[in-house]
Amino acid sequence: MQVSPSVRAIQIPDDHLMRPEFTTIYLVGKDQALLIDAGENIDAHRWMLRGYLAAVERTEIATVALSHYHFGHSGNLKWLREHYRADVLLHPEGIPFLKAKDFLPAEGVSTFQEDGQVLDLGGGVRLQVFFTPGHTADSVSFYLEDEGVLFSGDTMLGSSTTVIDDLHAYMRSLERLRDLPHLTVICPAHGPLIHDPRERIQAYIDHRTQRERRILEVLAEGGELTSWDIMLRVYTDLRDTRLRRAADGNVRTHLRKLEKEGRLQVVPGVKKEKSPEEQEREEAEARRQAEVLVQAREAEEQARRAALAAQENPPVDEWEVMPRYRLVGAAPE
Ligand SMILES: [Zn+2]
Repeated sequence: MQVSPSVRAIQIPDDHLMRPEFTTIYLVGKDQALLIDAGENIDAHRWMLRGYLAAVERTEIATVALSHYHFGHSGNLKWLREHYRADVLLHPEGIPFLKAKDFLPAEGVSTFQEDGQVLDLGGGVRLQVFFTPGHTADSVSFYLEDEGVLFSGDTMLGSSTTVIDDLHAYMRSLERLRDLPHLTVICPAHGPLIHDPRERIQAYIDHRTQRERRILEVLAEGGELTSWDIMLRVYTDLRDTRLRRAADGNVRTHLRKLEKEGRLQVVPGVKKEKSPEEQEREEAEARRQAEVLVQAREAEEQARRAALAAQENPPVDEWEVMPRYRLVGAAPE
């Protein structure tokens, strides 16, 4: 899908519970194209990328730039290096996570030099890199000012709100993106394009500001409260009680921000002590579960491959003798 003169979107349908729509990988530039994000390390994403590049693009991928390290965005870096000789560009803080997961190719990897760096993609296409921490510490956004296109990674999503690691940093990042000159469309990593960018960013900001105000009101009523106490008073309209832990997580995100800003004091909690036997038992159980999951995934993958391979041959497993067809009457003139 063409987004603007230099931008194409490759949309990949998702079947994730948390991401019901689609993940999008973007291609920017013409001869020296830059890919924004590398997708997840699964066949569906690689097939889509390969299919798109073979069918639609005659362009070479010169570079893959990561919006942040999360594995749904960085899963195919090695594959892209191997098949397209693409160079990899990312924020330095993402490197340890990707090394731990063994997702980085052995060569061709470099980091963004600085906030505001301009990537020259040739043909007059210039992409700015902004460090926009909040969703993760290494989150960056890319801005193609000439065409008014902002690539937001997971900092802004197409239809849902995002998970935030550092709300203090996140709010600053949002304000910065809101004030970009000539902004006309946001290209998020998940969900549809955002055609009312400023309004949407402002709505994100307002939403959080209102929740923070509510949390402060609850705290102002006095006493020492746990995040759970606060959650129960702030989220009074939460119908599905299974969302309580997620809501508590949101409250804690706000509390971390307020603490960082020196607006509240934390009375430290005390963790439960577990006996070595208890700990050993829990770890053994976790290992057992992990093994079962690996076996299940292998079985699933084998079945999927077998089903695909079977497409090449007639369905002999279904038929002793396959139906045959014989013409009634004469052949056509
Ligand atoms: Zn993410």
